[in-house]
Amino acid sequence: MFKNKKIIVANWKMNPITFREAKKIFLDIKNTANKLLNIHIIICPPFLYLNELSALYKRHRMSVGAQNIFYKDSGFFTGMVSASMLRGNNIKYVILGHSEARSLGEDDDVINQKVQISLKKGLRVILCVGEKERDEDGNHFNFLKDQILNSLKGVSLKSLENIFVAYEPVWAISGKNGSSPMSSNDLYEMAIFIKKILSDNYKIKNLGVNILYGGSVNPRNAKKLMEDGGVNGLLVGKASLNSKKFNEILKIANNF
Ligand code: PEP
Repeated sequence: MFKNKKIIVANWKMNPITFREAKKIFLDIKNTANKLLNIHIIICPPFLYLNELSALYKRHRMSVGAQNIFYKDSGFFTGMVSASMLRGNNIKYVILGHSEARSLGEDDDVINQKVQISLKKGLRVILCVGEKERDEDGNHFNFLKDQILNSLKGVSLKSLENIFVAYEPVWAISGKNGSSPMSSNDLYEMAIFIKKILSDNYKIKNLGVNILYGGSVNPRNAKKLMEDGGVNGLLVGKASLNSKKFNEILKIANNF
């Protein structure tokens, strides 16, 4: 989709509290993005900021995306936003299946419906998957396989081009108690595993699929994760709200 470009996604979650702060972070990132030719950046702010932020940038190195949608396209669903509404506002990306949305009750079936409607309406999907914990028996492999295949049920090979699989082991996502990222060696193993699941499912040898890593990425670990992790990009939460740190991550990714 982006011909060898690395993809860096910023997930701002329910931050920052004011549009003024959001604009400041966005413009700081934009200044750096303009100089970086080898990456594509997708900033995912809260819904309310999407339109105004996207109006601040009209070139091709950076896009904005939403953090979720509802699985129906219109109707009696108070508080919800649909895929068609995003496309109607020229938004092209959406994060689906984030572990924080899953922990609020979204299951694979709901996520699959969201994936289907997003693709149908022309959105590109950043599909988050990842185990809550790892164990010595390797149950996390089966867990991940089920999550991926259930979320992608009914998705054609052609549509897979519009999916980025963001592997985010839940235990590695930064939270109140602090977390550390996965090692790049373990990530490499997981990236190969995800490619194999999809290659087997679509019966295509060495299927090209975009895999991103997310979980406590910061300027100190980004290089190693990109160098040895076997992924095409990163999904950054906490560090993406600090434009200095995020810009450092962008510059590192631009060197790959
Ligand atoms: C996330 O929540 O998607 C995420 C990757 O967060 P963090 O980078 O803060 O671990």
